Amino acid sequence: MIEHLKDNWQAERLQSLTATLQQAASETSKPIVVQNFIDGKWLPSRGQETVEIINPANGAVLGYTPLGTAEDIELAVQAAKKAFKTWRETPVIDRVQVLFRLKTLLEAHVEELAELITLENGKTIGEARGDIRRGIQMVETACGMPLMLKGQVSEDIAAGIDCHAIRRPMGVFAAITPFNFPAMVPFWFWPYAIASGNTFVLKPSERVPLTQVRLFELIEQAGMPKGVLNMVQGGKDTVNALIAHPDISGISFVGSTPVAKYVYQTASANGKRVQALGGAKNFMVVLPDAQMDAAVRTVLDSCIGCAGQRCLAGSLILSVAEAYPAIEAGIINTAKHIQVGNGLDPATGVGPLISQAALDRVKGLIQSAIDEGATVLVDGRHSENLPNQGYYLGPTVITGIQPHMRIAQEEVFGPVILLGQVGTLDEAIHWLNSSEFANTTTLFTASGAAARKFSYEVDPSMIGINIGVPAPMAFFSFGGSKHSFFGDIKAHGQASVDFYTDTKVTVERWFKDSSIW
Ligand code: NAD
Repeated sequence: MIEHLKDNWQAERLQSLTATLQQAASETSKPIVVQNFIDGKWLPSRGQETVEIINPANGAVLGYTPLGTAEDIELAVQAAKKAFKTWRETPVIDRVQVLFRLKTLLEAHVEELAELITLENGKTIGEARGDIRRGIQMVETACGMPLMLKGQVSEDIAAGIDCHAIRRPMGVFAAITPFNFPAMVPFWFWPYAIASGNTFVLKPSERVPLTQVRLFELIEQAGMPKGVLNMVQGGKDTVNALIAHPDISGISFVGSTPVAKYVYQTASANGKRVQALGGAKNFMVVLPDAQMDAAVRTVLDSCIGCAGQRCLAGSLILSVAEAYPAIEAGIINTAKHIQVGNGLDPATGVGPLISQAALDRVKGLIQSAIDEGATVLVDGRHSENLPNQGYYLGPTVITGIQPHMRIAQEEVFGPVILLGQVGTLDEAIHWLNSSEFANTTTLFTASGAAARKFSYEVDPSMIGINIGVPAPMAFFSFGGSKHSFFGDIKAHGQASVDFYTDTKVTVERWFKDSSIW
């Protein structure tokens, strides 16, 4: 099956993409250069430079992403600005109809989209299904916008005076998204933004644009009105054009911490609302009273799922007192037997990292840990079972981690499990709160009192109790704190209505007209 898909990738799967790119059937052998979607039309980028879209499972070039220019952004923003005039006047109950139609289309294309995600991102096909499934949940939740958008009214705030507050769309918003969830992360933003009456420009990751091209074909098919939702391909320069553009009201960003901070500072300085979700260093704490088998399984899934390339991936496992031996033994035994390979093979447990550069960086971090005195218990760098091509790293387990080590402080973003030991829960909390990141953290325990103390005292904003990847569902809000999040208002759920709307308050008094009644 894998060979079949790989061999027929150009011939079968790119057919619909090729159609989108308005290439003739006879031209399918030409390299694919993905296009922009602006004002309801597929348009070539003005950018002359491109970057390769690489299948991380074998290094094959799947196509090219053009690096869009300020001119591309101008076209998209002007289309969105024009569309805003009529879109904001469209009743919310009508606006969400396009999302209902899209939901049906997405359900019919889950497998095709999942394969596309695996091909350009490398994650396993099961993880890719999760990526699209979570995206669909965002669309479903945004369909509830008629309820989410309701305002507030108070009668008689003073004698004969009433007050009402409504949620008003603000204009054009934009999102800039990362490589690790090619489908889900863009869905964190645009469905809520457009359902609440704004128009939108998306800039997907230049490394994984194919999933979004296919999704935009479906969005087009669902009947998205022209200009309401636009997509511009590109990298750094495209981002700079977006965050400086005077007609953009706000920016939603997801990516690494240095870029999140830069986007937050620059876009805010340009007078925009900004929510910028950054990197992470996620600690998992195991108390001696935890169910050890479940804790081991959950830790592994958290640390090595999506090859560790999740912002909620567990990284540093702090075993408290006598919890350590069972955790170390369980993790070593399980990690050794996980199949590493092409994510399209249903037996694969860990797919490749996104690029050679990412692989080199993670290997460098592993070496830094060894140099600083840690011990590698399972070494995924040298496994003889790794495929010859592609950017593979087997699950790697390292013990003897201390707070001062580089690997204890930086985001690894690879299938690496770091083991540390502490004497008490207080020590564990102190260690994890000393991290500059604060995205998520998990406690394994059977004690409600310990769980409450943990939730109460830790800095991260997304907490798991016996849960490895405590990702808030679409109807809750998502985002960390400290250097994992820059801004005030988090992503999706009800918070998205706060982010994408302004509150307009009217205080009113009506004088009696005795000639009528
Ligand atoms: P990245 O920061 O390299 O890229 C993210 C986006 O920013 C891309 O669209 C890219 O084109 C753009 N970009 C990159 N460099 C830029 C620059 N110098 N100036 C302006 N724009 C630039 O991130 P990535 O490698 O694609 O994604 C992985 C990172 O994203 C990890 O750190 C991960 O933790 C983080 N992430 C965070 C969350 C969260 O919810 N906090 C979710 C997913 C991913």
